[in-house]
Amino acid sequence: MQNMITKKDIIAEAERLKFADIGFTDAQPFDSQREYLQAHQEEYGWAEAIGLSLIAGTDPKNILPQAKSIIVLLESYFEESYPLQLERHFGRCYLDDDRVTKDGLALRIKAFRKFLQANGIDSKVPFNLPHRLSAARAGLGTFGKNCLFYARRVARTSSFVFPVALVIDHEFVADEAEVSIGCPDWCRNACVAACPTHALQGGGKIDPRRRISFLTYYGDGLTPLELREPMGMNIYGCDRCQNVCPRNTPWMVQEKPQNPRVLAKSANFDLSCLLHMDKPYFEKKIWPHMFYMSTDDIWRWKMNVARAMGNKP
Ligand code: SF4
Repeated sequence: MQNMITKKDIIAEAERLKFADIGFTDAQPFDSQREYLQAHQEEYGWAEAIGLSLIAGTDPKNILPQAKSIIVLLESYFEESYPLQLERHFGRCYLDDDRVTKDGLALRIKAFRKFLQANGIDSKVPFNLPHRLSAARAGLGTFGKNCLFYARRVARTSSFVFPVALVIDHEFVADEAEVSIGCPDWCRNACVAACPTHALQGGGKIDPRRRISFLTYYGDGLTPLELREPMGMNIYGCDRCQNVCPRNTPWMVQEKPQNPRVLAKSANFDLSCLLHMDKPYFEKKIWPHMFYMSTDDIWRWKMNVARAMGNKP
């Protein structure tokens, strides 16, 4: 019989693959999240309607019937800097998103799963598991009042991290959970005050339908007149609440090397190119990196670009 690997072995592999942090939690259902989603279908019903199955994702056994534990890897996605003209218009977490091209983070996740598999552990990487809650349950950090997840040990405790949760069929001792908001009292809700569309409602509550990110890629039809100015120069995604957050200042001011992958494609995201792009341009140069809108939605891209240009100071 194969010798079972230990937590220490798994942690070492995560480090080798350059994940910023790793934690373990059990595979108990996320009951509070399910209850919250069920009680807030008005705000989250759209997610079920487009097939995100968030409610099903609150029970790891719906993902892997023999689920015993969850491993959460923490990816620090702002280790390298991005061109400022891109940061101005696009959410940072989308600038080096390889979920379609599968040539960056996806390869490291694949290698990690291969390592688990070689040691007799089956895993699934569900998109609909509550990732941030999993990370909090695995002791990797705390929440902000902007509903984002802040690292406890890495990226200078900023929110420029995202959890990758793997449901596995082996049991490991869970790390100590810490599901709490970690904001200092003196901040006085800078993120809530700064949110131009009033998506943030304070105390860690959010109306996802009012998020600028949501409005840029899933907004219904033409952007209503009253939102055109508040949505400012954001074309795809929004980092406003992260930028104003004092918990992020130490990481934001830290000098970073440039991200060569993003630099190489930055000219494709020039606003006048986006405004005049045709389908082949979109499908080849834009969609593989920012794919929430399909080819049929090029008009929406152009609408967002035109608004951003119109809002330029
Ligand atoms: S801006 Fe203030 S209240 Fe909002 S997440 Fe940051 S520390 Fe918390």
